[in-house]
Amino acid sequence: MQTFPIFLNLRDRRVLVVGGSEAAARKVELLLSAGAQVALIADKVGGELAELIDEARISWAGRDFDEAELDGVSLVIVASEDEALQARVSQAARGRCLPVNVVDRPALSSFIMPAVIDRAPLTIAVSSGGTSPALARRVRAEIARALPATLGRLARFAEIFREQVRRTLVVPRARRLFWDRVFDGRVGELALAGDEIGARRELIRLLDGVRRETPPPGMVHLVGAGPGDPDLLTLKAHRLLQRADVVVYDRLVSAEVLAMARRDAERLYVGKRRAHHCVPQQEINDRLVALARAGKSVVRLKGGDPFVFGRGGEEVEALTRAGIAVEVVPGITAALGCAATAGIPLTHRDHAQACLFVTGHLKDGSVDLDWEMLARPRQTVVIYMGINALGVISTQLTARGLPTSTPVALIENGTTERERRVVGTLACIEQKAARSGFKGPTLCVVGEVVGLAHTRERDFHFESRIGL
Ligand code: SAH
Repeated sequence: MQTFPIFLNLRDRRVLVVGGSEAAARKVELLLSAGAQVALIADKVGGELAELIDEARISWAGRDFDEAELDGVSLVIVASEDEALQARVSQAARGRCLPVNVVDRPALSSFIMPAVIDRAPLTIAVSSGGTSPALARRVRAEIARALPATLGRLARFAEIFREQVRRTLVVPRARRLFWDRVFDGRVGELALAGDEIGARRELIRLLDGVRRETPPPGMVHLVGAGPGDPDLLTLKAHRLLQRADVVVYDRLVSAEVLAMARRDAERLYVGKRRAHHCVPQQEINDRLVALARAGKSVVRLKGGDPFVFGRGGEEVEALTRAGIAVEVVPGITAALGCAATAGIPLTHRDHAQACLFVTGHLKDGSVDLDWEMLARPRQTVVIYMGINALGVISTQLTARGLPTSTPVALIENGTTERERRVVGTLACIEQKAARSGFKGPTLCVVGEVVGLAHTRERDFHFESRIGL
């Protein structure tokens, strides 16, 4: 995070605005809507600002800036083009540790003015950390489009019942579910439409009903987190992440995907522990069962798809045995994500009529695959967890008749910003992998289709079969 977002209470606080420009008028307008007492310093005022002074809604504090004007001020905004003045006010304000913003001059500002969506009491502020106000404005427009203009009504309405709901439903999860029902359902519709009496009646009815209900039992969703890019999550995965009480995740789940979870959901890491020992599967199963028994809505996030080399089957079994409801939400498996970014069509009319997904890592650390089957022509073989077995894989496949010139791609951290790729042939891939020093999750794709991958000069070291 480049800047730290907070919302200031400026009601009845004195704020100094320097400058009489159009930009100054916009800031004054925002400050007034937050209830601030605005004092303006400007050598010329016209238009809207002059009207506001006439109507005594803001006060005019003179033409020139005098440091004494900072007495009793909570915030300073400079919207003047005069650079010497900008620097002088900024320095004086900072000298007193007063928050100051100079329009379009991040270097002179101690805070950034965000792009604001005002659905009072709901306020949304967007900042690009000073990098691109234009982009922040675009994001604001996108968000604003998705929000009803009357959203503020809903917030005000919810406030009326907040205490009563808190007293009636003491368990936080029950309260959250209740408010979800309020906002998603008829109460929300009525409140947004301005029918407060109807909304009140409906809410009381709903609250009464919920009070009598036994709380829903806990459940576990085994959710495919995809290969890393959060945009590749399914809509369902996203929705569940927004509602989860607990998110249980491991090393394969990218930080970007995890960030999609509800802010205050509990996060439980079950990846590598101290000294690189994995949390045993049994312990993970037990934890999932215990969390669900405690009534929690658990999202067990698993890299890629839960049922592709993810031990999802074992977790489902354990949960079902314990009588816990479980739902599996598929995700984009690494093979599909990596193939897409690398531009490798896994099947192709001219090159591959089948595609096999295999694992290069067995329980006991050995590699024991059906090599005859894997070495057949006109198919693509995708090897998960195969990076340490490249030597065996190349030797076995060529011994069974695959040409040493068969193209092989290695894709590390596929679909993320850290993605790296190396392409070679069965003859040289082990050596190339050793040189690349892949540490992250890496997928291996063997087959003619790799030769169709799009090449990129910088990060894609493709060596065509002609060159090798
Ligand atoms: N359930 C997962 C696979 C788990 S096995 C899925 O469906 O994708 C772990 C292996 O998956 C890793 O060793 C690596 O071979 C592969 N893998 C997972 N995510 C990857 C990624 N983003 N890029 C490359 N390989 C990945």
